[in-house]
Amino acid sequence: MNLDFDAGVVDFRAEVAAWLAAHVPDPPLPSVDTATGFAMHRAFEAELAAARLAVVDWPVEYGGRNASLLEWLVFEEEYHAAGGPVRVGQNGLFVLAPTLLAHGTAEQRARILPRLARAEDVWAQAWSEPGAGSDLAALRSRAVRTDGGWLLSGQKTWSSRAVFADRAFGLFRSDPGAERHHGLTYLMFDLGADGVSIRPITQLDGEAGFAEIFLDDVFVPDADVIGEPGDGWRIAMSSAGHERGLPLRSPGRFMAAATRLIDLWQRIGDPADTALAGRVADAWIGARAYQLHGYRVASESGAGSRADVPPGGAAGANASLGKVFWSELDVALHETALDVLGPAAELTAPDVPERRWLDGYLFALAGPIYAGTNEIQRSVIAERVLGLPRGA
Ligand SMILES: Cc1cc2nc3c(=O)[nH]c(=O)nc-3n(C[C@H](O)[C@H](O)[C@H](O)COP(=O)(O)OP(=O)(O)OC[C@H]3O[C@@H](n4cnc5c(N)ncnc54)[C@H](O)[C@@H]3O)c2cc1C
Repeated sequence: MNLDFDAGVVDFRAEVAAWLAAHVPDPPLPSVDTATGFAMHRAFEAELAAARLAVVDWPVEYGGRNASLLEWLVFEEEYHAAGGPVRVGQNGLFVLAPTLLAHGTAEQRARILPRLARAEDVWAQAWSEPGAGSDLAALRSRAVRTDGGWLLSGQKTWSSRAVFADRAFGLFRSDPGAERHHGLTYLMFDLGADGVSIRPITQLDGEAGFAEIFLDDVFVPDADVIGEPGDGWRIAMSSAGHERGLPLRSPGRFMAAATRLIDLWQRIGDPADTALAGRVADAWIGARAYQLHGYRVASESGAGSRADVPPGGAAGANASLGKVFWSELDVALHETALDVLGPAAELTAPDVPERRWLDGYLFALAGPIYAGTNEIQRSVIAERVLGLPRGA
């Protein structure tokens, strides 16, 4: 593999780095899970979009640059190295958009994607229900046929950003006679529509990063069905592959964290503690391995855009390999940082830079759960990647 970047990629990296150096907020924005922080993150997304940097890999007509997967990876490296804000629109950007590019109509793409890119609409993912998490096919929320569309009823939960978001996408049971994976329809709806109630859920860090969504005969027009009614499961599995693949947690994120960890160790680490030094090195090796995995996927895909690449590499189930890897790496990396900091890790005030490690650690703990738990991913890897017999 030739790891030299060509001149076009080098120029692109320089443009991205220069823009970010001039625009990334300092001090960092308040938490995205507060009303003020959410509005500020939304405004930052609009600035990114104006520079045509919000969705570099999308087609030009929707606000992108048709960038290759390699250029997208480079964008992500620079974004995280510069300490760019959390992408407030991430569920829309990394789950809904690829789904619409693959399964939506031309009308849906033209209507939804440019507004999504500019964060004029921020989207929440409304899949999980109180009785349907890992076992998503157990979902019970309903879509009932009505004149010109559907009426949605039921309860969704753990919906990230739904407290402040504008719209949501989710799966609904449209054929009450069908069971499990059959008779499900993939729909989009307004979170401000009549019949929608949102109840915030406070998470470990004290902010309401999620919400429950209650739906009571919420009208959705036919134009907001993705794919064919009843074909929701197949489309959702394609969405899930995108959610678990490179897009949601790109290698650049972990390279940036590992580089900060090395810096922390060099500043305050105890050189006599060789065991801890080994963990610091392991975290960096893990991040670098994931980065090289990204380059490998990019080189296998040739010059194609990210939208053409099966998430995670050659096959959809391979996305599960990456998901288990990055989520466990993130926990180990942050645990190591807390151990380097020692007792100070837990004593830092909210405005002290080291506090970022504690916040990062608390969020890292969720990585093995969201986007499909790691236990489920291990079953997918065992059965569909390795071809082992199905468990009982
Ligand atoms: C930070 C965060 C953000 C989230 N954001 C969203 C969102 O935006 N939208 C959304 O719809 N959902 C979201 N979720 C929900 C997430 O998708 C679910 O939490 C996840 O799918 C697990 O479902 P559950 O919580 O119901 O746990 P359960 O499915 O009840 O699982 C409980 C435990 O049992 C294990 N388990 C269950 N079944 C099996 C099995 N067959 N084999 C082995 N082990 C098993 C699980 O691995 C887990 O350890 C989010 C979750 C988190 C933590």
